[in-house]
Amino acid sequence: MAQLEFFPFGVGHADEGVSFLIRMGPYQILLDCGLRDMALLPSDLPPADLVLCSHAHADHARGLLSLHRAFPQLPIYATEVTTQLLALNWTTERSQVPLFAQALPWRSPVEFQDGLTAELFPAGHLPGAAVILLTYTPRGSQARPYTVLYTGDFFLSNSRLVEGLRLEELRGLEPDVLIVEGSYGTARYPHRRQQENQVAERISQALSAERNSEGQVGHQSVLLPLPTLGLGQELLMLLRSHHLFTGRDVDIWVDGTIAAGCDAYLELLPHFPASVQNFARHQSLFWDERVRPRVRRLPSDQRETVGNTPCIVLTDLTSDWNAFFQPDTPWLVLLPQHLADPFLLPNSDQLTMETYLLAQHCDGPSTTQLIHNLRPQHVIFVHGNPNYLADLTGLEELHNRYHLHSPSAGSLVELPIGETFLQPAPPETTYEGELAELGTVVTFTLPDAITADSRWRGLADTGLIEARWQGQDLVLRGLTQRELLNQISDRISLSTDGTLKDSCATCRHCRGQRCWNPGSPLFNFKVPPEGYCPAYEPTPPDEKPVLDHPFPDQIEEN
Ligand SMILES: [Zn+2]
Ligand SMILES: [Zn+2]
Repeated sequence: MAQLEFFPFGVGHADEGVSFLIRMGPYQILLDCGLRDMALLPSDLPPADLVLCSHAHADHARGLLSLHRAFPQLPIYATEVTTQLLALNWTTERSQVPLFAQALPWRSPVEFQDGLTAELFPAGHLPGAAVILLTYTPRGSQARPYTVLYTGDFFLSNSRLVEGLRLEELRGLEPDVLIVEGSYGTARYPHRRQQENQVAERISQALSAERNSEGQVGHQSVLLPLPTLGLGQELLMLLRSHHLFTGRDVDIWVDGTIAAGCDAYLELLPHFPASVQNFARHQSLFWDERVRPRVRRLPSDQRETVGNTPCIVLTDLTSDWNAFFQPDTPWLVLLPQHLADPFLLPNSDQLTMETYLLAQHCDGPSTTQLIHNLRPQHVIFVHGNPNYLADLTGLEELHNRYHLHSPSAGSLVELPIGETFLQPAPPETTYEGELAELGTVVTFTLPDAITADSRWRGLADTGLIEARWQGQDLVLRGLTQRELLNQISDRISLSTDGTLKDSCATCRHCRGQRCWNPGSPLFNFKVPPEGYCPAYEPTPPDEKPVLDHPFPDQIEEN
C-alpha cells in the first residue's frame, strides 16, 4: 500500500469550503475544516487522528467548532494568532467561544505521534496564516521520511498588515507532495502598490464632486462590503496611510463583524510586523476620531442616516445593504473582484456597483515560482474555480516536471513515491521589473534578487550595458573591462585618418598612459592614446596633457 494518500471532503471549487484528509503511513491528518455541509464528514468516528488548521478564514475553519463539539478529544492545532481569531467565525464576542484549538509555534517541528511531526511557516495572506509541513518517518532501518507541504491560502507579497510568505525558507525542500491553492489560476496581476493606488483613487474620486464628470451625481458615499477578517483591515490601513486620504476630512465607518475583527487584531498586536507595531505606537491602529480620516464604529441604528454626508462604510458581505440606500443618498458599492459574482445588483441613479482588485492570494507566476522552488514529486491543486485549476495543470512547465492532480471532492488520490525520482531541473527563473521612460532616458528597475546570482558581478562589472534587438526581444548584456579594451583596439583600426579627437590622448584624466578617472570603466587601466570611454572629458586648454609623464613603477597592471 502506498504510504501517502489524499482524500478531499471539500476542495473549494466554489464556496463549499476546504477540508482534506491526508494519510501518511498509519496516521490520518485532517487539514482544515471549512465545510459548509458538515454531513460530508463521517459522523460516527473522529475523521482523523488530529486536525491542523491553516488560517482563520471561514472557508478553512467554519466547521471546526462543530467538529470539536462532536469529538472533544480530537486535537485541533493552529498558530497562536489563528487560535485567537477562530472564534470570529461564530460570534463577535470572542470570549463566548472557548479556545478549543491548541497553539503551535512557528518554524519548530512538533512531534504529535511516533514518527509524525508538523512544522508551520508564515504563509502571508492573513495574520496567523500558516504553510504546514508534515513529516512521517516510518520505523525501521530502511525508513525514509515522507513529507507533505500544504500551503493553505498564501501570498508572496507583503501587504499592510502581514508579511508575505518567505520563499527562501522553503527553497529546495523537495516535499513528496505539495498541496497548493490555485485561487487566481494562471492570471498575472499588477504590482500590489498599483492595485492599492487604483482602489484609493476610485474611492477618492467618488467622494469628491468636481472629479465626477460622467453626468452622475457628485459626492457619492462608498460602501465596501467585506469579509470579517483580512481585506477590511487591510483597506482601513490603506485609507489611513494613503496620501489621497491622510488629513482628509472624511469619516470611515466600520460595521458589524469587521469591527470585531479590528478589535481582535488590536489584541494580537505583538504578533504583527514591526512596521505595524511602530505605526500603532503613534496612533491607534484602527479607532481614531481625532486624526483625519476619522475611523469609527457604526452603531447599527445609524445605517439609514450615515450616507447623508459623503463617507466610507465598511460592512459585512452578509449584512442587508438596503438599509444604507436612502432616496437622496447616492452610493458607490465597491466589491472585491473574486467575491463579487453572486452579489451584483442593477445600477440605478442612486446606486453604482463596481468591483476592484486587492489581491489576497498570489497570482499565476508566483504560484509556479513557489512550485519550482519547492520541487515536489506530486502537486495537488485545490481552492479555486476548476477552470482556473485546469489552466494551472495545463502549464507545460509544470506537467513536464511534476505529477499534477486536481481532484474533485470525494475522490481518493494515491500518491506513489518514486525512491529514485529524477526530476528535471526547474526552468530558469524569470524576473519581473518595471520600465520607465523619462525624456531621452529609459530606466529598468529589477528586483534585488537578481543581484544574488553569481553572474550579476560579471554583468555589472563596468556599469555599462550593451542593448540590442534580437527579433522582438531586447537583449541586455553587461560589458566587461576586457571587452571595453577590445572595443578600443577596434577603434584604433578604424581611426585611420590619424586624427584622435575624443580619445584618451586628449582626455584630462589620462596620465602616463593610464586612466585616472574613477568614474570611467577604464579606471586604473593602461590605455592607448586612441582609447575612448563614455566618461571622456576634454583637457581644458590651460591644462597640459601629461602623456609622456613616466608611470610610477609600483602600480601594476590589474
Ligand atoms: Zn483565506
Ligand atoms: Zn481560502
